[in-house]
Amino acid sequence: MNEKSLKNKSPKIGVLAVQGAFAEHRQILEKIGAETFEIRQLRDLEQHFDGLVLPGGESTVQGKLLHDLGLFEPLKNLIEKGLPTFGTCAGLILLANKLSNDSHTYFGALPATIERNAYGRQLGSFYVEENFEGIGKIPMTFIRAPLIQKVGEGVQVLATANDQIVAVRYKNQLAISFHPELNEDLRVHKYFLETLPHFY
Ligand code: GLN
Repeated sequence: MNEKSLKNKSPKIGVLAVQGAFAEHRQILEKIGAETFEIRQLRDLEQHFDGLVLPGGESTVQGKLLHDLGLFEPLKNLIEKGLPTFGTCAGLILLANKLSNDSHTYFGALPATIERNAYGRQLGSFYVEENFEGIGKIPMTFIRAPLIQKVGEGVQVLATANDQIVAVRYKNQLAISFHPELNEDLRVHKYFLETLPHFY
């Protein structure tokens, strides 16, 4: 889909806004023609929407708030039903079905084993430019990022950096360990929007 047809369709994207980098995702999505709204409480889910963004931040805090606010089960159901979902960093952790260094799991919709904070405190943040399947070379900013250690059957690897998997697609889910919302590059968000109609 090109920019013009995206504008015509104007998909509506709910951005989880209980904690973390939700504002940056909204800005980018609006720049490329999507309508966005923040998901903060249960009644925000009463409207129809075409896609969900789970931003980076702190997965433990987000997971707790999702339960406290009663958002957890309804969002889990929507993801399982096929709502296109884009998880970045903490969002990837929320989607995964196994965390190797944490006893929690959250939505458990993505067959992948993730190690939280795998890049350590000292080397917590770094920047690389690597190839992303179907897009080309893109900037990737990592902040205390989760490591995708292993992926299950049917999970497509979209990008690697330093020999590690950093972006995957599985059915309706796009999950990446870096922060595309922190760079000027809009292509990963465009990629997410362009794949929407196939799924929902
Ligand atoms: N370290 C965070 C966590 O474990 C993720 C980091 C991020 O989202 N930038 O939840």
